Parts: sequence; C-alpha cells; structure tokens
Amino acid sequence: MTEWMLATNAAAGFDPSAATDAYIATMDAAARARSDAYFEGGYWLILVNLLAGLAMAFLLLQTGFSKGLRDRVQGVVKSKSLTVAVYAAAYTLVTTLVLFPLTIWQNYFREHEYGLSTMTMGAWLNEQLIGLVMGMVMAAVFLTIFYIVLRIAKSAWWIWGAGVSVILLAMMIFVAPVYIDPLFNEYTPMEEGELRADILAIAEANGIPADDVYVFDVSRQSNRITANVNGLFGTTRIALSDTLIENTDPDEVLAVMGHEMGHYALNHLWEMFTIFGVVLAIGFAFTNWMFNAVNARFGRNWGISGISDIAGLPLLAACLSVYFFIMTPVFNTVIRTNEAEADLFGLNAAREPDGFATVSLRLASYRKIDPGYWEEFIFFDHPSGRARVSMAMEWKAGQLALGAEDQTPELRLDRAEAIMQELAE
Ligand SMILES: [Zn+2]
Repeated sequence: MTEWMLATNAAAGFDPSAATDAYIATMDAAARARSDAYFEGGYWLILVNLLAGLAMAFLLLQTGFSKGLRDRVQGVVKSKSLTVAVYAAAYTLVTTLVLFPLTIWQNYFREHEYGLSTMTMGAWLNEQLIGLVMGMVMAAVFLTIFYIVLRIAKSAWWIWGAGVSVILLAMMIFVAPVYIDPLFNEYTPMEEGELRADILAIAEANGIPADDVYVFDVSRQSNRITANVNGLFGTTRIALSDTLIENTDPDEVLAVMGHEMGHYALNHLWEMFTIFGVVLAIGFAFTNWMFNAVNARFGRNWGISGISDIAGLPLLAACLSVYFFIMTPVFNTVIRTNEAEADLFGLNAAREPDGFATVSLRLASYRKIDPGYWEEFIFFDHPSGRARVSMAMEWKAGQLALGAEDQTPELRLDRAEAIMQELAE
C-alpha cells in the first residue's frame, strides 16, 4: 500500500493534500534540479534584459546616433510623421542587431541546453528574420500614430497614449490569428473522432460558439504543449498544438481545453485590455516624469527637444522598461489570478482532475514545480505545478463528497511516474 493510500484511509475519505503530495513526489531530485535551474535562471534574465536595454539606450543617445539618425532622415523626408516612421524602423533594426548576441544565447542556445527547443539554427534564424521585418513594419505604424498623439495631446499624452495603445493592441490581437500566426505555424482542421467531438461538446455546454477545432504544428519549434480559444463576434476558433494531441492522453487534452475555454467564457481578454490600459496610463505618467528629469540632468549632448521628439525614443523606451521591471510582480499576479480562474473553470467544464493534475506535472519541464509563496507571487505568471495539482485534488475531494458518480478516489500515479521518467531523460 502506498503512502497516499494510508493517508486517505486515515482521513476516512479522499485526502486532497496527501494526493497532491503523492503527485509531486513522482518527480525525482535530478529532474527537479534541472527544472528549477531553468526557471530560476529566468528570474535573472529579467534583470539582465533590463540592464542590456538601458545600456543600449545610453549608447544610442550618448554617441549621438539617435539625434544623427533623426537629422539625416528629416533632411530627406521633411514630414514629421514620415521621419518618425523611418526612424522607428531603423531603431528596431539597430536595437535587434545590438541585442542579438543576448537573444541568440537566451532563446536558442539556452533552450537547447535544457532540451526545450526542437529547432535547427537555420529554422530559428528564419523565424527571427520574419519577426524582425514584422517588428519594423509594426513599429513604424504604431510609433507614427503614437507620436501624433504625443504632439497633439501635449501634457495629457499619457492618458491618450494609453487609450490609443490599447486600441492598437486589441486590433493586433484580433488580426493575429488570421495574418500573423500562419507565418509561424500551419493550422489544419482536427481529424474527426471522439476527442474532437468531446472538445466541441464541452464548448457547447459552456456557451462557446465554435463548430470547428484546429491543430497547429508547434512541434516545428518545441515540445511545449499549448492551446487557445480566441476570436470575437462569432468568429471563435478553438486550436490546440500537435504536441498536445500526440504527447498526452485524451483526458489531459480535455483538461487543457477546458482551461482555454475558461479564458474565453470569463472574458479575460476584455478584462486584460481594461487593466492594461490603466497600468499603461500610470506607466506613461511615470515615463513622462522620468524622461524629463533624466533629459534635464544628463541630456546636454543628446539633442532631444522634448518628449514628442523622436530622437528621444531610446530614453522613452528605457523609462518604460524601468516601469515594467518594477511592475513585474503586479503583472504576474494579475495574469496568474486569471489563470487560476481559468483552471477552476476548466475543472468544472471538463471534469478531469487527474488529467489536469498530470498535465500540470508535464509543464514542470520548464516551470519550477514547488516554489515558495513569495517566489510564486513575484515571478509566476501561471500557478505553479503544486498549486494546480492541489486545486485539482481539492476539486475532486469536493466532487466525491457531493457523491459525483463520474469521479473516483484513484490517482493516476502510474502516468505521473512515466511523465517524470521522460522529464528526467
Ligand atoms: Zn491560461
């Protein structure tokens, strides 16, 4: 008899905390050390990326590159908005190139070191190039509009800028599934069958207007399992990764899809737009203050006439990155809270607590499974593995107490052990 069974018998019923411990205990020390090292390294990367960005901004300003670029472009194109557009594209190109060594180490070599990426160098570079071209076009469009707002709204730019940013972000999120996602992955209709029918049945039972399910080839990039439900005004699309279908059991797939439907049904996207708008308005107000203070004190040679001068973009971006850095725990907690809501919705929708528990264990390949309270609060944008397994087991305990006939006290420790074996390899 295993330990958890003793514990559950002792409690004369299903003991959710013993069940949680039993699931977590399937992870061996070596696998845990590797997963912890990968995830904790990410904490330092937040700081490294901030410092690299600040150093680059200082370089662009102090060497006169920024004002030189503005003057040269302005001399050719004359119009203010066109100057902003060309400057924005050039700025995106230069900053991408300057930060490239850090990017390739962080997103290519480090991912391979931990066995998380399946991409060849050629394929990865190709994606970077597509991303760069897209980034240059989007920066040109977005910043042209943004600087028009800066010039017109003057000292009230922080609030107007936040509003315009949210609208542009929303537009991007709604066109991305049609115009951007297909540049990186191929979407094909999911094969007919029981699993597809079950996914659509859960959708229908929860008021999600979708009549098709798509599969996209994440295996092209990594082993990560992922899915999403997005769209609006009757164009809802349910999509899941090929890695999810191929590497997990049907009850795990349903548990994941229940979670994704939760984001949709609970209107998380709209909630995010609202919160993001407020957070961004505060961030722009902070940026306005910091920009003027830093420019007045150190900007003698930078040639920036004011915040609406495009030559000040490196400084503006630097101020904003300081704000985002400080706000890291706030962003993470807002997102993590929504994720926990979607988890609970998913448990109720799919009714697969053990599928949900073991799929949470799978995510331990790249997310620390059992962090401290404050560590989770500050750094986690999704609940930790332990938090998720615990929620699933509490849900199951409640269902058993209610006498739900589709639930049993048995755990899927066999599957958990097999998953952990794979992670250890
Ligand atoms: Zn989610």
